[in-house]
Amino acid sequence: MNYEIALVRGDGICLETVDSAVRVLERVGETSGHRFHTTPYLAGGCAIDACGVPLPEETVRGCLASDSVLLGAVGGPKWDGMPGDRRPEKALLGLRSALGLYTNLRPAKLYAPLRDSCPLRADIVAEGFDLMMVRELTGGIYFGERGRREGTYGPEAYDTEAYSVMEVERIARAAFDAARKRRRHVTSIDKANVLETSRLWRETVRRVAEEYPDVTLENMLVDNAAMQLVRRPSQFDVVVTSNMFGDILSDEASQITGSIGLLPSASLGATKRGLYEPIHGSAPDIAGQDRANPIATILSAAMMLRYSFDLTEEADRIERAVDSALADGLRTADIAAPGAPALGCRAMADAILARL
Ligand code: NAD
Repeated sequence: MNYEIALVRGDGICLETVDSAVRVLERVGETSGHRFHTTPYLAGGCAIDACGVPLPEETVRGCLASDSVLLGAVGGPKWDGMPGDRRPEKALLGLRSALGLYTNLRPAKLYAPLRDSCPLRADIVAEGFDLMMVRELTGGIYFGERGRREGTYGPEAYDTEAYSVMEVERIARAAFDAARKRRRHVTSIDKANVLETSRLWRETVRRVAEEYPDVTLENMLVDNAAMQLVRRPSQFDVVVTSNMFGDILSDEASQITGSIGLLPSASLGATKRGLYEPIHGSAPDIAGQDRANPIATILSAAMMLRYSFDLTEEADRIERAVDSALADGLRTADIAAPGAPALGCRAMADAILARL
């Protein structure tokens, strides 16, 4: 098959990390008979420099015409003084909304060779963990009615949370579908003891679960989930939750892995087209020095193969190559022990290519 990929490198280290991922895709293409054709587009600070706007129309058109989008990260001190609507980050929100992406998938996995970087207690680390956060991305309190008004005690502010059955059904299906590609267990997180939106969330997820008799469902309150993530993260497989709870819990989950340089993410909508990006930023402090860890972006490309193109075997190969490089002791500076030798971005990508 031929796949058209829009390549939105963005700024900073992502020039290096996205190119590493492209080399991996090309190698997978050579050995699998598939062809991954990439077309570069501008977004973020580089687009502001070239076109005066963070998200040029041409980029939106190119992404919409592609089978999927691989994104680096945007931003950097050079553009920090830009007015709100012209900041590089505007490109991210613009792309997510243009592509109709309402599901965010963020795996958080503890790599056995990197257990020393995990901030959790040794007995918890020994159990390991490998979970997938599924966060609703376009609804809930971040998009509800808000404002300021005069209240009983003087000036006050309010934000409102609303979820429709349709929004909960589609994110629940995304979670159950993801679980079918993993260990077939979904934990749905809410605050159903207090919030009406959570009660609707819980009954809707339970109804969708009936369509997936091969996947088990568990409900958990968000305060308990925040504790369980650090107490026994190994109990989770797929975790599905609302926009705000997901925002907080996915950061907690990524922190306990010990390195943001390793973590990929995917944003999906109603079609197979997705937006795949590392969770880290553009790391301007190490940009252009061949010191970035390319693994998060390489694993984002693997997620693209798995979730947009259904190329499970090819995605597994990339993930195994990364596992093998780490198991062989290869490290970039961000995950190396203090004083230990570290590979540059290009050399780490070479090592992964050699293991494909
Ligand atoms: P950051 O993730 O860019 O960097 C935080 C720290 O982690 C830095 O010390 C950096 O060197 C290190 N780091 C990050 N990724 C790494 C990698 N792959 N390999 C090795 N080290 C890595 O976060 P920040 O410093 O808060 O933000 C820098 C810029 O990136 C800002 O302009 C911010 O707005 C932007 N940003 C963009 C996105 C995005 O586009 N999705 C996300 C977060 C931050």
